[in-house]
Amino acid sequence: MNKNKYTHLEISVPNIRHNLRYFRSFLRETTKLLVLVKAYGYGHGIGEFSRILEDNGVDYLAVAFPGEGVAIREAGIKLPIIVLSGGMEHYPLMIRNRLEPSLPCPEAFERFMQEAVAMKQKDYPIHIKLDTGMHRLGAEEEDIQSIIEKLPGTGSIRIASVFSHLAASGEEKHDDFTRKQIARFESLSHMLMSHLDYKPMRHLLNSAGIERFAPEAQFDMARLGIGLYGMSYVDKNRLKPTAYLKAPVLQVKTVQPGETVGYSRAGKVTAPDTRIATLAIGYADGVNRHLSNGKASFSVKGHRAPTIGNVCMDMCMLDVTGIDVKPGDMVTVLGDDPTIFELADILGTIPYEILTSVAYRVPRIYTF
Ligand SMILES: *Cc1c(COP(=O)(O)O)cnc(C)c1O
Repeated sequence: MNKNKYTHLEISVPNIRHNLRYFRSFLRETTKLLVLVKAYGYGHGIGEFSRILEDNGVDYLAVAFPGEGVAIREAGIKLPIIVLSGGMEHYPLMIRNRLEPSLPCPEAFERFMQEAVAMKQKDYPIHIKLDTGMHRLGAEEEDIQSIIEKLPGTGSIRIASVFSHLAASGEEKHDDFTRKQIARFESLSHMLMSHLDYKPMRHLLNSAGIERFAPEAQFDMARLGIGLYGMSYVDKNRLKPTAYLKAPVLQVKTVQPGETVGYSRAGKVTAPDTRIATLAIGYADGVNRHLSNGKASFSVKGHRAPTIGNVCMDMCMLDVTGIDVKPGDMVTVLGDDPTIFELADILGTIPYEILTSVAYRVPRIYTF
């Protein structure tokens, strides 16, 4: 157990391992596993966190932007890294840092080849993204034809993988559509690969896809994101929370009816001897302001205490009446009580956004 008495995000490495084992159990021994560490590792950190993943046998990493990949390289991580949404102007930076681009269209393919030639690269690994129905990024049939036409004389690059992304792999009502995406991926990837004299890897599944479509569509690699961080589309009880946002109580005071708490006098005190605890965490740390005025409650010494008044930038207040709380006591704002699911429900969003909203200024502390 970690004894830190300051605001921090505690990352449980044993729980990360537990979740990793769960997702691996769906995959064949030979199937590679890529972990998504975009958006600061879904809030879990970038350099040190990537090292933990490397130590736990993850084969590949992926980020959204080149800067995230550079941060991982600066931490000394040697794993291959795919950059999913890097722009053309970043290709030289990516090559200098051995970051592997995802190329979604003939224009990107051509431009990357030019940069690779200019930088005297040979067989530089790239990844071709196919659009099988998500309609965000990816090559469709015509684009693939033009990429094929550009293939001769591409000694500067090598297609390390061909991949696509599922739009609704966690939702049963879209399973027919998901199966269409799988079939489309088979045919589009085959179309491209039939023009190569080597065999790139293929990958399609995200977290929910691994849980629900691994037997039919795991191909050579799977891409694990939100699942690693505790979200299951099949049975949430099989996974463990991995991030615990904690903050200390700075002061406890007694406030009487008629008085108010915080900005705009939004927190109206109605009961005699109401006990107010002020925490060292606010909306700038990731406590969404829509959690103000009792919308959420946090865990204090085994009890749940509701927010009172508006969440401030660096602090927020809880009604801790009846709970034995003193300055220095730690409060769990997010973790197993409340969970990312509970806060996502209150805020009308998805667990992804809860995790990615924890601010950079909150130190990440890894417990082993
Ligand atoms: C973010 C992302 C994933 C991971 O999705 P999860 O739902 O978090 O598992 C997989 N593949 C691509 C291309 C992504 O952008």
